[in-house]
Amino acid sequence: MRSTFLPFSTPTIEEAEINEVVDSLKSGWITTGPKVKRFEEAFRAYVGAPYAIPLSSATAGLHLTLLALGIKEGDEIITTPMTFASTVSMIILCGGTPVLADIEPGTLNIDVELIRAKITPRTRAIIPVHFAGQSCDMDPLFALAREFGLTVIEDAAHAAGTEYKGRRIGSLESISIFSFHPNKNITTGEGGMVCTADETLAEEISLLKFHGMSREAWKRFAASGSPNYDILMPGFKYNMMDIQAAIGIHQLPKLDGFIDRRRDIAEYYNRELAGVEELALPQYAPYVQRHAWHLYTPLVRIEKLSIDRDRFMEELKKHNIGSGLHYKAIHHHAWYRQHLNLPDSALPNASYASERILSLPLFPKMSDDDARDVVEAVKTVLAVNRR
Ligand SMILES: *Cc1c(COP(=O)(O)O)cnc(C)c1O
Repeated sequence: MRSTFLPFSTPTIEEAEINEVVDSLKSGWITTGPKVKRFEEAFRAYVGAPYAIPLSSATAGLHLTLLALGIKEGDEIITTPMTFASTVSMIILCGGTPVLADIEPGTLNIDVELIRAKITPRTRAIIPVHFAGQSCDMDPLFALAREFGLTVIEDAAHAAGTEYKGRRIGSLESISIFSFHPNKNITTGEGGMVCTADETLAEEISLLKFHGMSREAWKRFAASGSPNYDILMPGFKYNMMDIQAAIGIHQLPKLDGFIDRRRDIAEYYNRELAGVEELALPQYAPYVQRHAWHLYTPLVRIEKLSIDRDRFMEELKKHNIGSGLHYKAIHHHAWYRQHLNLPDSALPNASYASERILSLPLFPKMSDDDARDVVEAVKTVLAVNRR
């Protein structure tokens, strides 16, 4: 057994990121400023989006996008139950109604076929989540959205660097929202980015993110700016700081290398765990894509074991292997059980995955030995707890 604990994820922060943050701190310009502008432009160019708006989180991005689209009481938004809470809670906090469509059992992405049946005259938008960094099937999803006049908002929190049929997520005909939380493919500590081709929407989100101040208001304390500002509408305080962007500026050029390393480890897991009957391994979608491998999420076939998934995770921990839970399905959480009142039979694939899924360690800094330790621990725990 390994002697040190292996967490399920940890960011790769090197000298360049540290020096850039120190530079910000010493420069006297800590909050939104030239480094945010540099990071915004670099990220916008990387994904190939006409406009990018840096924010304090992806949750802020979801919130402002829904508000800028005018989502209000009575509006229905179709999304997946296999996501982080904020995808759905932002719909509710804007007064909208989340409508959950079940997932495909192999990719755990929203099943586009099942979206159609959920569309009503009140439906306004669809929020697909590119689960674990694997793109949803966007062509049929866009076709459906066009047929019914719906807006597509991609929750791209897992999908920095993901491609769909040769096109990078962030450059498609939709709005994409990225997260730079420390567990994500690149980090700014906390942070997010909304990417869009819609200039009006970009302008609206830019206003809402910072007190409703005119766009270049961050310059108001600089020599090139004017200390006078105007409030064009009531707004939030969702801006990204320079000390956050300082980290992102040095993370972005490493993203492709990070993804290569993530894919190597994921494919090693795929090979080493292929014959293990008690696991259902993550599946590749049939279309051409670049999977960003944000997560590696096998399902534990608990029917074949004497322990449940939570116990399985505890047993891994006893072998010094951390794991994550992405996700307990939305409709299994206390508040949603009470307010959505969806029985397991309403979303059978998500309910099935919710009780069996876990995230094995996957991050670029992991060594081959670390990956081997994970496989060994998984096999041992399964062997000892077979029915
Ligand atoms: C991380 C995550 C979010 C929220 O991102 P923050 O930047 O932490 O607000 C939203 N949706 C999904 C699918 C996520 O994984």
